[in-house]
Amino acid sequence: MLTSESAAYVGRFAPSPTGPLHFGSLVAAVASYLQAKARAGQWLLRIEDIDPPREQSGATEAILSALERYGFEWHGDIIYQSCSRKTHEAALQSLLDRSLAYPCGCSRRDLADAPRGPLGTIYPGTCRDGCDAAETAIRLRTSDTPISFLDGLQGLQSQDLERESGDFVVRRRDGLIAYHLAVVVDDAIEGITEVVRGIDLMDSTPRQIWLQQLLGYRIPDYIHIPVITHPNGDKLSKLTGAAGIPANNTARALVAALIALQQEPPEDLRRAEQSEVWQWAIENWRPEAMQGQTAVSTDSEALAGIKNGLW
Ligand code: GLU
Repeated sequence: MLTSESAAYVGRFAPSPTGPLHFGSLVAAVASYLQAKARAGQWLLRIEDIDPPREQSGATEAILSALERYGFEWHGDIIYQSCSRKTHEAALQSLLDRSLAYPCGCSRRDLADAPRGPLGTIYPGTCRDGCDAAETAIRLRTSDTPISFLDGLQGLQSQDLERESGDFVVRRRDGLIAYHLAVVVDDAIEGITEVVRGIDLMDSTPRQIWLQQLLGYRIPDYIHIPVITHPNGDKLSKLTGAAGIPANNTARALVAALIALQQEPPEDLRRAEQSEVWQWAIENWRPEAMQGQTAVSTDSEALAGIKNGLW
């Protein structure tokens, strides 16, 4: 099932419960939803709850009630990533059994002098040939063969993982499965055919494709949409103090999301009911309008007229 070719479109939205949805996450949810709906496909909802130290109590409930209020309709049951722990462990074990992954006892301090690149510390391979530390992370071996993919909006992307990231962590020292491994396993078991998400995750994609290759999974298509930024250029996020999306005015907030997604909704849609906004959006969805665009500021001219009071 994992590798079967299927014509049916399966997309997903996969928020981490680190806080309530903000405008940037609404935009990502809308983009993945429209991409699935416009193709008469399935849209799955997966709560990525495998990193308790980063989670905020009540965030899952807040995310779910916001998605309901905004009229999103997901296919089947809500998926909780924490429930696929056994499958994550099995994937990890298969990498270890084939010596594609290995224990690493390096602490942050041990790596303080390691080179850094845009992806963070470039692991110098210290534990590649063995390590006798009691507490270890597990790292995946990388190679110097470039990993390339054709992003649906951002064009051809390529990374030499060995040079740009080095062997990366698939199970953390604290025993938690790392994001890259969990997301790849879950996308595979759910049969996701296309991943639509923010461009801030685009530089993770080659590491995820490497994992898909090693685990024998089908590689989904990828579309990375522009990130929504504060006027100073910082990405909207919990860390940068982005406000939650409004509980009222949902139709107008959806229109704002469509504007951010370069869909140019007609002026009178600003006064329409939520269901009419969705109908227009699905019928007129043109992701190609975002071709090559990497960021949209909440202060942009297009959003200026509608955003007041929305976030
Ligand atoms: N859970 C991740 C986040 O909330 C998104 C993962 C993904 O879309 O691949 O940032």
